[in-house]
Amino acid sequence: MNADLERLVRLQQAETELKRVESSRSDLPRRRAEATAALDAEKARLTAARDAVENCQKARRKYEGELQDLEAKRSKYKGQLMEVKTNKEYTAMLHEIEGVEREIRAREDLVLAEMEKAEVLAAEVKREEQDFKAADEQAKARGREMDEEERRLAAEAGRLSAERDTIAAEVPASMLELFQRVARVRGVAVSEATKDAMCSQCHVKLRPQMFVDLKRTDEVFQCPQCNRILYYEAPVPVVVPQP
Ligand SMILES: [Zn+2]
Repeated sequence: MNADLERLVRLQQAETELKRVESSRSDLPRRRAEATAALDAEKARLTAARDAVENCQKARRKYEGELQDLEAKRSKYKGQLMEVKTNKEYTAMLHEIEGVEREIRAREDLVLAEMEKAEVLAAEVKREEQDFKAADEQAKARGREMDEEERRLAAEAGRLSAERDTIAAEVPASMLELFQRVARVRGVAVSEATKDAMCSQCHVKLRPQMFVDLKRTDEVFQCPQCNRILYYEAPVPVVVPQP
Protein backbone atom coordinates (compact mmCIF):
# COMPACT_ATOMS: atom_id res chain seq x y z
CA MET A 1 0.00 0.00 0.00
CA ASN A 2 1.03 3.56 -0.78
CA ALA A 3 2.72 4.96 2.36
CA ASP A 4 0.58 8.12 2.26
CA LEU A 5 -2.54 6.01 1.88
CA GLU A 6 -1.44 4.02 4.90
CA ARG A 7 -1.15 7.31 6.80
CA LEU A 8 -4.67 8.26 5.72
CA VAL A 9 -5.95 4.96 7.09
CA ARG A 10 -4.24 5.68 10.41
CA LEU A 11 -5.52 9.25 10.27
CA GLN A 12 -9.03 7.90 9.84
CA GLN A 13 -8.57 5.50 12.75
CA ALA A 14 -7.43 8.36 14.98
CA GLU A 15 -10.33 10.56 13.82
CA THR A 16 -12.90 7.82 14.38
CA GLU A 17 -11.50 6.98 17.80
CA LEU A 18 -11.39 10.68 18.71
CA LYS A 19 -15.04 11.09 17.70
CA ARG A 20 -15.99 8.13 19.87
CA VAL A 21 -14.11 9.59 22.85
CA GLU A 22 -15.60 13.06 22.32
CA SER A 23 -19.08 11.59 22.10
CA SER A 24 -18.58 9.75 25.42
CA ARG A 25 -17.28 12.99 26.94
CA SER A 26 -20.23 15.03 25.73
CA ASP A 27 -22.60 12.42 27.16
CA LEU A 28 -21.21 12.86 30.69
CA PRO A 29 -23.25 15.96 31.65
CA ARG A 30 -26.46 14.12 30.70
CA ARG A 31 -25.44 11.12 32.81
CA ARG A 32 -24.57 13.40 35.73
CA ALA A 33 -27.92 15.17 35.45
CA GLU A 34 -29.68 11.81 35.36
CA ALA A 35 -27.90 10.69 38.55
CA THR A 36 -28.76 13.99 40.26
CA ALA A 37 -32.42 13.68 39.25
CA ALA A 38 -32.58 10.13 40.62
CA LEU A 39 -31.15 11.30 43.95
CA ASP A 40 -33.54 14.27 44.02
CA ALA A 41 -36.46 11.89 43.52
CA GLU A 42 -35.19 9.79 46.45
CA LYS A 43 -34.90 12.94 48.57
CA ALA A 44 -38.43 13.97 47.59
CA ARG A 45 -39.76 10.60 48.83
CA LEU A 46 -38.03 11.15 52.18
CA THR A 47 -39.39 14.70 52.44
CA ALA A 48 -42.91 13.48 51.63
CA ALA A 49 -42.66 10.81 54.34
CA ARG A 50 -41.49 13.40 56.90
CA ASP A 51 -44.27 15.78 55.85
CA ALA A 52 -46.82 13.01 56.35
CA VAL A 53 -45.59 12.50 59.93
CA GLU A 54 -45.78 16.22 60.58
CA ASN A 55 -49.32 16.45 59.17
CA CYS A 56 -50.32 13.54 61.34
CA GLN A 57 -48.92 15.28 64.45
CA LYS A 58 -50.71 18.49 63.51
CA ALA A 59 -54.01 16.65 63.13
CA ARG A 60 -53.51 14.96 66.50
CA ARG A 61 -52.76 18.28 68.23
CA LYS A 62 -55.87 19.78 66.65
CA TYR A 63 -58.08 16.91 67.92
CA GLU A 64 -56.46 17.12 71.35
CA GLY A 65 -57.20 20.86 71.48
CA GLU A 66 -60.80 20.21 70.54
CA LEU A 67 -60.95 17.47 73.15
CA GLN A 68 -59.81 19.90 75.86
CA ASP A 69 -62.46 22.40 74.80
CA LEU A 70 -65.13 19.70 74.89
CA GLU A 71 -64.04 18.52 78.32
CA ALA A 72 -64.22 22.11 79.61
CA LYS A 73 -67.69 22.36 78.11
CA ARG A 74 -68.74 19.14 79.85
CA SER A 75 -67.45 20.45 83.24
CA LYS A 76 -69.33 23.68 82.68
CA TYR A 77 -72.56 21.81 81.86
CA LYS A 78 -72.12 19.54 84.86
CA GLY A 79 -71.77 22.64 87.04
CA GLN A 80 -74.90 24.10 85.52
CA LEU A 81 -76.75 20.84 86.18
CA MET A 82 -76.61 21.65 89.91
CA GLU A 83 -78.21 25.01 89.37
CA VAL A 84 -81.24 24.10 87.24
CA LYS A 85 -84.63 24.68 88.80
CA THR A 86 -87.02 22.35 86.92
CA ASN A 87 -87.09 18.74 85.83
CA LYS A 88 -87.47 19.85 82.23
CA GLU A 89 -84.34 21.99 82.46
CA TYR A 90 -82.53 19.09 84.14
CA THR A 91 -83.43 16.65 81.32
CA ALA A 92 -82.44 19.19 78.66
CA MET A 93 -79.07 19.70 80.36
CA LEU A 94 -78.50 15.93 80.57
CA HIS A 95 -79.10 15.73 76.82
CA GLU A 96 -76.54 18.50 76.28
CA ILE A 97 -74.01 16.60 78.38
CA GLU A 98 -74.67 13.36 76.49
CA GLY A 99 -74.16 15.17 73.20
CA VAL A 100 -70.82 16.61 74.41
CA GLU A 101 -69.74 13.17 75.62
CA ARG A 102 -70.48 11.66 72.21
CA GLU A 103 -68.29 14.33 70.68
CA ILE A 104 -65.56 13.62 73.23
CA ARG A 105 -65.58 9.90 72.37
CA ALA A 106 -65.45 10.73 68.66
CA ARG A 107 -62.38 12.98 69.25
CA GLU A 108 -60.71 10.35 71.40
CA ASP A 109 -61.14 7.85 68.56
CA LEU A 110 -59.62 10.34 66.12
CA VAL A 111 -56.62 10.97 68.41
CA LEU A 112 -56.09 7.22 68.72
CA ALA A 113 -56.32 6.77 64.95
CA GLU A 114 -53.70 9.50 64.41
CA MET A 115 -51.41 7.87 66.97
CA GLU A 116 -51.66 4.53 65.14
CA LYS A 117 -51.09 6.25 61.81
CA ALA A 118 -48.04 8.05 63.24
CA GLU A 119 -46.45 4.73 64.15
CA VAL A 120 -46.80 3.43 60.59
CA LEU A 121 -45.53 6.71 59.15
CA ALA A 122 -42.53 6.82 61.50
CA ALA A 123 -41.50 3.37 60.24
CA GLU A 124 -41.93 4.66 56.70
CA VAL A 125 -39.62 7.62 57.44
CA LYS A 126 -37.01 5.26 58.83
CA ARG A 127 -37.15 3.17 55.63
CA GLU A 128 -36.94 6.25 53.42
CA GLU A 129 -33.98 7.55 55.45
CA GLN A 130 -32.13 4.28 54.90
CA ASP A 131 -33.01 4.30 51.18
CA PHE A 132 -31.85 7.88 50.81
CA LYS A 133 -28.61 7.23 52.66
CA ALA A 134 -27.86 4.26 50.37
CA ALA A 135 -28.81 6.25 47.25
CA ASP A 136 -26.68 9.19 48.40
CA GLU A 137 -23.63 6.99 48.95
CA GLN A 138 -24.18 5.32 45.60
CA ALA A 139 -24.56 8.70 43.86
CA LYS A 140 -21.30 9.91 45.44
CA ALA A 141 -19.49 6.79 44.28
CA ARG A 142 -20.95 7.17 40.76
CA GLY A 143 -19.89 10.82 40.79
CA ARG A 144 -16.32 9.84 41.63
CA GLU A 145 -16.40 7.21 38.88
CA MET A 146 -17.60 9.79 36.37
CA ASP A 147 -14.91 12.27 37.50
CA GLU A 148 -12.35 9.55 36.87
CA GLU A 149 -13.92 8.72 33.51
CA GLU A 150 -13.89 12.38 32.53
CA ARG A 151 -10.17 12.67 33.33
CA ARG A 152 -9.43 9.48 31.40
CA LEU A 153 -11.46 10.58 28.35
CA ALA A 154 -9.87 14.05 28.36
CA ALA A 155 -6.41 12.49 28.41
CA GLU A 156 -7.40 10.07 25.64
CA ALA A 157 -8.84 12.91 23.53
CA GLY A 158 -5.62 14.87 23.99
CA ARG A 159 -3.50 11.90 22.98
CA LEU A 160 -5.67 11.12 19.93
CA SER A 161 -5.83 14.68 18.64
CA ALA A 162 -2.04 14.95 18.97
CA GLU A 163 -1.69 11.66 17.09
CA ARG A 164 -4.11 12.87 14.41
CA ASP A 165 -2.16 16.14 13.99
CA THR A 166 1.15 14.28 13.77
CA ILE A 167 -0.15 11.97 11.05
CA ALA A 168 -1.87 14.81 9.19
CA ALA A 169 1.41 16.75 9.12
CA GLU A 170 3.09 13.82 7.36
CA VAL A 171 0.48 13.58 4.57
CA PRO A 172 0.97 15.66 1.38
CA ALA A 173 -1.31 18.70 1.34
CA SER A 174 -3.30 17.59 -1.73
CA MET A 175 -4.07 14.22 -0.19
CA LEU A 176 -5.00 15.74 3.13
CA GLU A 177 -7.27 18.15 1.32
CA LEU A 178 -8.96 15.26 -0.51
CA PHE A 179 -9.32 13.37 2.77
CA GLN A 180 -10.94 16.35 4.48
CA ARG A 181 -13.26 17.03 1.55
CA VAL A 182 -14.59 13.45 1.54
CA ALA A 183 -14.74 13.38 5.36
CA ARG A 184 -16.92 16.49 5.42
CA VAL A 185 -19.53 14.75 3.25
CA ARG A 186 -19.14 11.13 4.29
CA GLY A 187 -17.83 11.27 7.84
CA VAL A 188 -15.47 8.38 7.17
CA ALA A 189 -13.13 9.32 4.29
CA VAL A 190 -11.42 6.01 3.59
CA SER A 191 -12.84 2.64 2.67
CA GLU A 192 -11.26 -0.74 2.46
CA ALA A 193 -11.78 -2.65 -0.76
CA THR A 194 -12.77 -6.19 0.10
CA LYS A 195 -11.01 -9.18 -1.44
CA ASP A 196 -14.02 -9.69 -3.72
CA ALA A 197 -13.64 -6.12 -5.06
CA MET A 198 -16.29 -4.31 -3.12
CA CYS A 199 -16.26 -0.93 -1.36
CA SER A 200 -16.69 -1.96 2.27
CA GLN A 201 -18.48 1.30 3.12
CA CYS A 202 -21.12 1.59 0.37
CA HIS A 203 -20.90 -2.00 -0.95
CA VAL A 204 -20.64 -1.05 -4.60
CA LYS A 205 -18.80 -3.54 -6.80
CA LEU A 206 -15.58 -2.05 -8.18
CA ARG A 207 -14.60 -2.37 -11.83
CA PRO A 208 -12.13 -5.27 -12.22
CA GLN A 209 -9.44 -3.06 -13.79
CA MET A 210 -9.65 -0.51 -10.98
CA PHE A 211 -9.39 -3.28 -8.42
CA VAL A 212 -6.33 -4.74 -10.12
CA ASP A 213 -4.68 -1.29 -10.29
CA LEU A 214 -5.58 -0.56 -6.69
CA LYS A 215 -3.79 -3.71 -5.61
CA ARG A 216 -0.78 -3.31 -7.88
CA THR A 217 -0.03 0.42 -8.11
CA ASP A 218 0.50 3.35 -5.76
CA GLU A 219 -2.18 5.33 -7.49
CA VAL A 220 -5.00 6.74 -5.34
CA PHE A 221 -8.52 5.63 -6.26
CA GLN A 222 -11.87 6.84 -5.03
CA CYS A 223 -14.97 4.71 -4.89
CA PRO A 224 -17.08 5.52 -7.97
CA GLN A 225 -20.22 5.60 -5.86
CA CYS A 226 -19.35 7.09 -2.44
CA ASN A 227 -16.13 8.91 -3.41
CA ARG A 228 -14.26 7.49 -0.42
CA ILE A 229 -10.53 6.94 -0.79
CA LEU A 230 -10.04 3.23 -1.38
CA TYR A 231 -7.29 1.07 0.07
CA TYR A 232 -6.58 -2.58 -0.15
CA GLU A 233 -5.06 -4.59 2.64
CA ALA A 234 -3.38 -7.68 1.22
CA PRO A 235 -4.32 -10.76 3.24
CA VAL A 236 -1.59 -11.98 5.54
CA PRO A 237 -0.21 -15.10 3.89
CA VAL A 238 -1.01 -18.22 5.82
CA VAL A 239 2.13 -20.14 6.61
CA VAL A 240 1.49 -23.83 6.25
CA PRO A 241 3.90 -25.71 8.46
CA GLN A 242 6.06 -28.09 6.46
CA PRO A 243 6.05 -31.67 7.57
ZN1 LIG B 1 -18.05 3.26 -1.77
